[in-house]
Amino acid sequence: MDYLELTGRTDSHLTKVPGTEFLIYTPILDDFLDLQDSATKELIDLRIVSSYRNLDYQLKIWSEKAEGKRDLYNRDGKKLKYSQLNEEQILSAILNFTTLPGSSRHHWGTDLDLYDHTEFKNTDQKLLLINNEYEKGGPCFHLRTFMDNNKIFYRPFASDNLPISRELWHYSHRSESLKFQKSYTFEIFKRNIQEIEFPLKELIVRDLARYYQHCTSVSMP
Ligand SMILES: [Zn+2]
Repeated sequence: MDYLELTGRTDSHLTKVPGTEFLIYTPILDDFLDLQDSATKELIDLRIVSSYRNLDYQLKIWSEKAEGKRDLYNRDGKKLKYSQLNEEQILSAILNFTTLPGSSRHHWGTDLDLYDHTEFKNTDQKLLLINNEYEKGGPCFHLRTFMDNNKIFYRPFASDNLPISRELWHYSHRSESLKFQKSYTFEIFKRNIQEIEFPLKELIVRDLARYYQHCTSVSMP
C-alpha cells in the first residue's frame, strides 16, 4: 500500500463492480460478489451506496460541511444549526461523521456503504443513510442481522466508544482493510495534511497527533 493508494490519490488499485459504476479494491471483488449472492438467497437485495471515494470527492464533502452547504449532525443524529456554531464546534460536528480528506477508509476501496434495496423498490422512500434505518423495524435491519454472521466483512464504526459516530451501513473487508490500516501511519497522515488545502485546516495542524488518533480509531476486526 503506497501513499497514493492510502490517501485517495490514485485508482490504479481498483476495479469496477460489474454492472455498476462503483470502484472497489480489486482483491475483494470476488468476496463482494459472493456476499451479494448469499444475500440474495436470504431475499436481501444487497447494494452499494458508496465505495471508493477519491481525495477530491472527500475534499468536496468536507468543504461543503465546513461552509454550511451540507447538514451537520450531532452523534445522536440530530441536525445542528450551522449559524450558531463557532469554528471549533463546526470542526467537531463534521468529525462526527466525516473524516479528514486523505484519511477516509473509502480511499482504499476496501470499505463499502451497503443497504438493502428491497424496501426501496416501487416507492418514493429515499435512503437517508441514518442508523435508524438499520435498527429493528427499519428497511435495512434484515441486512444488518444477515451481516452480523459474516466473517469476511465487518463494521469498523459500530461502537459508541469511538470518536467517529456509529455508522451501521459502513462495512470493511476484514483482512484487506487491515493491511491498509496498518500502513496508514502518522507520517502518511501528516504528509497528506501538509499537501492539501481545506477549510479549518489551521485548527487541525495545531494538534495533528490528536486528529490522527481521531481519524484512525476503529473497532478492531
Ligand atoms: Zn462509509
